[in-house]
Amino acid sequence: MNRSLLLSLSLLLTVGSIACSKKPASGQQTAETKSPKKEALGNFNADSAFSYIERQLEFGPRVPGSAGHRACAAWLEDKLRQSNPDTVIVQRGEVRAYTGAKLPIVNLMASYNRGNPNRLLLVAHWDTRPWADSDPDPANHNKALPGANDGGSGVGVLLETARNLAAKKPEFGVDILLVDAEDYGRSGGFNDDGDSWCLGTQYFLDHLPYREGILPRYAIVLDMVGGRDAHFAKEYISHTNAREYTDRIWKEAAALGMSERFPDRVTAGIVDDHMFLNEAGIPAVDIVECDNSHTSSFPPYWHTMQDDITNIDRHTLGDVGNLILTLVYSPKL
Ligand SMILES: [Zn+2]
Repeated sequence: MNRSLLLSLSLLLTVGSIACSKKPASGQQTAETKSPKKEALGNFNADSAFSYIERQLEFGPRVPGSAGHRACAAWLEDKLRQSNPDTVIVQRGEVRAYTGAKLPIVNLMASYNRGNPNRLLLVAHWDTRPWADSDPDPANHNKALPGANDGGSGVGVLLETARNLAAKKPEFGVDILLVDAEDYGRSGGFNDDGDSWCLGTQYFLDHLPYREGILPRYAIVLDMVGGRDAHFAKEYISHTNAREYTDRIWKEAAALGMSERFPDRVTAGIVDDHMFLNEAGIPAVDIVECDNSHTSSFPPYWHTMQDDITNIDRHTLGDVGNLILTLVYSPKL
């Protein structure tokens, strides 16, 4: 699907920019399976994922160009190298924010089974938003937020995934990609400024580090995957553009006994890294908390100064991590 079609579809079918709003459920219901719960593959340690989030928070906000950003990039590179991949690719570039600012960005990718053309791409953004512009206190709107869930959580789960991969390789190729400058976009309506988000992923797609003709079969994006009582419904763009994979992931979640955490219904479409991957021809599924059962939106502390460690729950991290490792260690991609 080309960009303009996707964007016009998005314009038609989503409401609110990255503000997520509820869409009617798709009407598909699957019968509750009573078959015995499947054991998760791998050895996902939620305490370890949690500690990786705490460590990121110690750097302070990870806003491109800041000291915390530089220090965290170095730490992330170290962590990936310690995870015994075939290679770590570090993309350093400069992108232009919608504000006009030039941002120094760093994308980091650890590749496992680098020569295998059948590849799964796992993505999380590691930067944090420079402005807590949804904070109830306007005095905080120009302050950088901590980014425990929005930034920290996806990275925490993927670093713990990498720690597993260090010990045991998958049957196919796996790339763990930590992208920069996801969250520097313009708030407001879902309009042409959708492109002001996900600058690191856009840079990655312009500088794809794959041999010619080889693209990952599909991608999974993790964003805000550590919130207390989080639910992950099927995000609309994922469901539309990467339906086969979306359905498969949610079926796997149900088999693992997580049908409550991963309800089988379709929710709003949002601008996130997966949108750009899908536009570039890599089917991409976003696992993101954007359908809070109480508010039908992102969690209430989203883009506020309260996006801190107190809102992170190991149970949520554990469920998401067990699902990801089960997919990573499946016999087939
Ligand atoms: Zn954000």
